[in-house]
Amino acid sequence: MIKSFFDNGKIKYIENASLKKYNSYRIDSSCKYLVFPKNKEELINILRELKKEKIKYLVLGNGSNIILSMDFYDGVIIKLDDLNKVTYNGNNVTAEAGCSLIKLSLETVEKSLEGLEFASGIPGNVGASTAMNAGAYNSDMSKVIKEVEILDDNLKITKLTKEDLNFSYRDSLIKQNNKLIVLSTTFVLKEGNKEELMSKIEERKHKRMTTQPLNYPNAGSVFRNPKNMYAGEMIEKCNLKGYNINGAEVSEKHANFIINKGNATGKDILSLIEKIQTEIKNKYGIELKLEQIIVK
Ligand SMILES: Cc1cc2nc3c(=O)[nH]c(=O)nc-3n(C[C@H](O)[C@H](O)[C@H](O)COP(=O)(O)OP(=O)(O)OC[C@H]3O[C@@H](n4cnc5c(N)ncnc54)[C@H](O)[C@@H]3O)c2cc1C
Repeated sequence: MIKSFFDNGKIKYIENASLKKYNSYRIDSSCKYLVFPKNKEELINILRELKKEKIKYLVLGNGSNIILSMDFYDGVIIKLDDLNKVTYNGNNVTAEAGCSLIKLSLETVEKSLEGLEFASGIPGNVGASTAMNAGAYNSDMSKVIKEVEILDDNLKITKLTKEDLNFSYRDSLIKQNNKLIVLSTTFVLKEGNKEELMSKIEERKHKRMTTQPLNYPNAGSVFRNPKNMYAGEMIEKCNLKGYNINGAEVSEKHANFIINKGNATGKDILSLIEKIQTEIKNKYGIELKLEQIIVK
């Protein structure tokens, strides 16, 4: 039994855990077990047991790019929050998967290191953001990644270089193969001017505050931009700003954001997404592709 495995191994977990505070849409979903491995070894032991007992599992980062479509996840959700060490070696920085990307971005700039300042407004963790190839302002994770320490499906740890990982726009080999888990990421940064980088960050923060609906729960951009077009603009032209399904609403501030104005469920968000996709298809003949990940 997985519960006695957790108890015997003194593994930190919550049974029948609410996931509301672990996803940025604040969807009120829950899971059978939410587990917090202390280190890599414990993570591997947990995964070995889950595989043996054929229990479904999911590694969650900061929950800022997911739609929890189920009311209850009958399995184990693994949070890597305790894998959060950062090691500096000259201009190389290695951060474990559970590190906050915003914190890392600010910390590297504080040390006059340039390269991660694009990420100062991306509320994800290093592991997921590596897998998603998160990015902004014409930069992304792949531009500064040197190598990634991966745990594969056979629970073997390997190091893959940037070239191995097939990065492209918000995509990578890791995202394509959801059995691969990022343990840590090594970045190559360069020496920069702290004050200049800080003022860039402040300017962008101000821009985000004025253009994004940050006062409501959301999970960033909902759709990828089609080639040479902006999803937000297209949605706005379909007069969908403010369109609401049970609290899930197309933001008035930025049409490529869905906000949770009340107690929207994952299903409400998905219904709204379907509505937007249908309207866009009718008007433009284009299939808008989702940037967010649906958890079932
Ligand atoms: C206000 C706001 C602004 C945003 N702005 C941006 C932006 O400018 N650019 C951008 O790219 N994104 C943006 N996002 C989206 C989001 O923050 C990023 O996609 C981020 O990288 C997701 O990280 P996370 O830790 O929250 O991932 P989660 O949502 O927790 O997980 C995303 C996926 O990664 C998987 N995963 C989690 N951990 C690991 C791991 N260790 N190894 C492998 N897979 C893993 C999960 O299973 C899931 O499939 C924004 C979101 C919000 C709410």
